[in-house]
Amino acid sequence: MAAATRLISRLTLVTGGGSGIGRAVCQRLASEGASVVVADISEESANETLGSLQSNLRGQVHTAAVVDVSSKESIKKLVTSVQTRYFQPPSVCVNAAGITQDDFLLNMEEEQFDKVIQINLKGSFLITQAVAQALVACGAPKGSIITVGSIVGKVGNIGQANYAASKAGVEGLTRTAAKELSRFGIRCNCVLPGFITTPMTDKVPEKVISKIESLVPLGRMGEPAEVADVCAFLASDDSQYITGASIEVTGKTGGISEAQTCLN
Ligand code: NAD
Repeated sequence: MAAATRLISRLTLVTGGGSGIGRAVCQRLASEGASVVVADISEESANETLGSLQSNLRGQVHTAAVVDVSSKESIKKLVTSVQTRYFQPPSVCVNAAGITQDDFLLNMEEEQFDKVIQINLKGSFLITQAVAQALVACGAPKGSIITVGSIVGKVGNIGQANYAASKAGVEGLTRTAAKELSRFGIRCNCVLPGFITTPMTDKVPEKVISKIESLVPLGRMGEPAEVADVCAFLASDDSQYITGASIEVTGKTGGISEAQTCLN
């Protein structure tokens, strides 16, 4: 099927859809014909993304919703409201909500560690579980759950023990979910971005960016749309024999172990 139409009739839910990678994913899925629920903790950001979405096809309806992915209650409310609004659960879910709270391991507070794990790892678990439960309950023939991990989960990064642990965790979560859910026709995969130009990386000093770019064979940071390309592929039937995979989107083979970000 042509890329521009391969997600027709798909209902998609994107957490962290109000900014950066999540916003680019919403835009890409909408441009391929999907209906998109833009979910974010920031109502204003979610609405901004909503306003930017294409709606070319009859029946293509986008909405914005507020969610805190670290809260089971909030996720339950979101999934229920999506089902009420669209009369079905989302068959595609992209977990893009995430945060960083960097500090050296020797100084990191317990609260900093917990907060990042709560949102990045527990949030991915809660949304994956809620969407999978809804799909299984309604006997949906197939689903695709995509979690945005990070290359940092594979290679580590100075100042990001909490973030690296959370992103390594989502890979384990995804591989297990893939094994458990394949019998219900639900595929689960991760995308592992390298350094992508988003508000999350805005605070990285210019000299660090230059260093990173000099180490990436493709010679530059990535764009959110380039991560969205891979998410759209994983959402579509073009990836129907792929589950439990982690796809690196780093501009480099073998990851970016040289990356030393905000604290250098
Ligand atoms: P971003 O800060 O631009 O966007 C993150 C979004 O998540 C924001 O809209 C924020 O409001 C939302 N969010 C934060 N906490 C939330 C919560 N509790 N519930 C719901 N939404 C919440 O960052 P980004 O760079 O677009 O990051 C998106 C994902 O990509 C994150 O998981 C991040 O870890 C991952 N990632 C980013 C990069 C990068 O270089 N930018 C690299 C690897 C992985």
